[in-house]
Amino acid sequence: MNVVVLLGAPGAGKGTQAPLLATRLGIPAIATGDLFRAAVRDGTALGQEARRYMDAGQLVPDEITVRLLLDRLERPDATAGVILDGFPRTGVQAEALDRALAERAARVGAVVLVDVPADELVRRLSGRWICRAAGHPYHETFSPPRVAGVCDIDGSELYQRVDDRPDTIRARMDQQLGALAEVIDHYRTAGLLRTVDGLQGIDLVAEAIDAALAEAGIRPAGVPGEHVTG
Ligand code: ADP
Ligand code: ADP
Repeated sequence: MNVVVLLGAPGAGKGTQAPLLATRLGIPAIATGDLFRAAVRDGTALGQEARRYMDAGQLVPDEITVRLLLDRLERPDATAGVILDGFPRTGVQAEALDRALAERAARVGAVVLVDVPADELVRRLSGRWICRAAGHPYHETFSPPRVAGVCDIDGSELYQRVDDRPDTIRARMDQQLGALAEVIDHYRTAGLLRTVDGLQGIDLVAEAIDAALAEAGIRPAGVPGEHVTG
């Protein structure tokens, strides 16, 4: 099982890169933010609980988040491997993931930190639009869709997240960057952390991620031009 963790602050570009990487590696990308937004949309008890934290820019408690992610890892499409986008986000989550993978005789294979300075994060989040169907991200200036308001990939409608409003963006930075530092330390200590410059264009970031993964022995499975859907 190939487990790749994409790390980065809110707005670093994880959600942009994860589906592209999923296509290249032929394994699914799992974003806990998308799982939470789906639960909110479906009106489940978990969604109602998570929403209180998400709307305030806070992290959802570890217990709920770990359970959500581990349930998702049980699905059959995750057997060959997964790309994790937005999990783990605390030291406790990182340790829970290590334990759960060890029970499956697996482990995290590579961790790539997409590094972007704080002022750029704010610019990116405040211009972000995502699609209703799958959370594919766009940016009104840096990465516009081909047709305004419509997802290039699945044709669904684009909208702006309530937590991408300026005051919530600030709250997310204040509340979440400390925990991200814990996660970075966890993987640095484990010798798994590789950092790429996230300030480059989307294609160059993708190339840098591939180079970082190649160093860890993880390479695209498909032949060039072949698209394997996650
Ligand atoms: P994250 O999932 O890490 O929060 P996203 O992938 O949603 O980040 O990206 C945040 C915003 O920045 C989106 O509007 C996206 O279109 C834009 N973006 C992503 N990567 C880049 C990049 N390399 N250069 C400029 N804008 C980018
Ligand atoms: P971003 O694009 O800013 O990185 P996400 O879509 O990944 O945001 O997450 C949206 C919100 O969902 C977070 O602000 C947080 O409230 C919640 N969330 C997502 N993943 C986690 C996690 N691993 N732990 C705790 N909360 C999470």
